[in-house]
Amino acid sequence: MSSRPLPNPSCEPACPTALEQAYSPEQFRLQGHALVDQLADYLAQALAGKLDAVLPAHAPDDLAKDWQRDFQSPHPMSLPVLMAEVLAQSNHLHHPRYIGHQVSAPLPITALCEMAAALLNNGTAIYEMGPVSTAMERNVIRWMSDHVGYGPEADGFLTSGGSAGNLTALLAARQAMAGYDLWEAGQKPEEPFAILASAHIHYSLQRVVQVMGWGKDAVIAVPLDENFRLDASQLQPAYDKAVAAGRRVIAVVGNACSTATGSYDPLEAIGAFCKEKGLWFHVDGAHGASALLSEKYRPLLSGIEQADSVVWDPHKMMMMPALVTAVLFKDGRDSYKAFAQKASYLFQKPPEEEWFNLAHRTLECTKRMMSLKLYAALSLYGEGVFAEHVTRMYDLAKDFAGLLLAQPDFELAVMPESNIVCFRYAPEGFSGDLSALQAEIRQRILKDGSFYLVQTQLPQGVFLRVTLMNSFTTLSDLEALLETIRQSSRTVS
Ligand SMILES: *Cc1c(COP(=O)(O)O)cnc(C)c1O
Repeated sequence: MSSRPLPNPSCEPACPTALEQAYSPEQFRLQGHALVDQLADYLAQALAGKLDAVLPAHAPDDLAKDWQRDFQSPHPMSLPVLMAEVLAQSNHLHHPRYIGHQVSAPLPITALCEMAAALLNNGTAIYEMGPVSTAMERNVIRWMSDHVGYGPEADGFLTSGGSAGNLTALLAARQAMAGYDLWEAGQKPEEPFAILASAHIHYSLQRVVQVMGWGKDAVIAVPLDENFRLDASQLQPAYDKAVAAGRRVIAVVGNACSTATGSYDPLEAIGAFCKEKGLWFHVDGAHGASALLSEKYRPLLSGIEQADSVVWDPHKMMMMPALVTAVLFKDGRDSYKAFAQKASYLFQKPPEEEWFNLAHRTLECTKRMMSLKLYAALSLYGEGVFAEHVTRMYDLAKDFAGLLLAQPDFELAVMPESNIVCFRYAPEGFSGDLSALQAEIRQRILKDGSFYLVQTQLPQGVFLRVTLMNSFTTLSDLEALLETIRQSSRTVS
């Protein structure tokens, strides 16, 4: 069935079909200009905090119903009308009172790059599919490796998120450590593997070991110190425990930093332990590796240069939109170990002779042109802008902690090392359930939309959790948050 041409007497006998019209460069030009104007107006409002709610409150089922369509014939809605609805109902990350999850308020230039990347669609599986993005990726990876402190033999690639990055790094670790070609032969059942990691590792790492078929117990949790950092003195006991359980430990994972409290594990000490025991050292720097760019906060990561592999998400603290994650290897040869696979329709040569066919090394086959936005922002603004952002956000978290410590009715969970702050409201004389109180306060704030923040479970109970991702958030926004919390708790008994 061919699509019906729209009536247009001037183009007889060969009117463009609906499909041909959908590719009209002139229409793209008009829609594009209008959209950029619409987004720029939105951005101005969001940055100024002039939106009704940070996260407009809609129940999932209601929203899904509102957006129900049959898609059988074109809807008479224009792109600006559609986009106005999308903008109105989205979570507003550029709003200075968005202080929730670890998602960036992207640099506007990246939105333009994403538009170009979508149109070009030069997916970086093999060089011929995306030559420019492959070249940009190579250089961005080099730049990141230098910041880690790696030497010239380091290498890596970009992938779709920290979770995929952790999987790829640990697949490489498994192959490198096995002592046999595990990729070809499969795991030997008589030798179950394990990793050691902080009790606060990201859930993706638990998932990774279970994807690899090692079972739930393959993550041996190393107890934390009082600052929620992996306690290095507990590495040996955890190792002994794994061995006693019949497991072969192949790797230790360090958090830099943890998701729950933003705590940095002692990377120097973990690195030394790995060296002594001959273990793979992986650093999950999805959120916190960006502090490498800040002169002031770089020492939090000292020891990272010893890691065999590092995951670093520019879409967390480098103001990039999702997704763009780097997986870096100290020894570039290890970057080929995750998938030691042949696919003759894509590749003609052994992987190591083709650095430029990146799909040898990535979970993805087709991959977005994810290097473009990062390369463009680094080129246009220089790395100083990124250093400034990290420093500002980490500083603000410390100022916020100071503010909290000065309030008799608030408790700080731990002095923040990064831009993640956990605290709770504990007014004097309150005799109810403190955890329930935090959850109730959060629900009330979400309903009124004045802030967007999240919560987390710590050993002492539920805490409110703030991540400062937006350089336009100020201490006075956070003072207002405390007042809002007090107000919203008024009627909770
Ligand atoms: C965010 C995060 C991840 C997951 O990364 P995604 O890009 O969301 O998949 C993994 N580890 C840590 C420590 C994180 O903060």
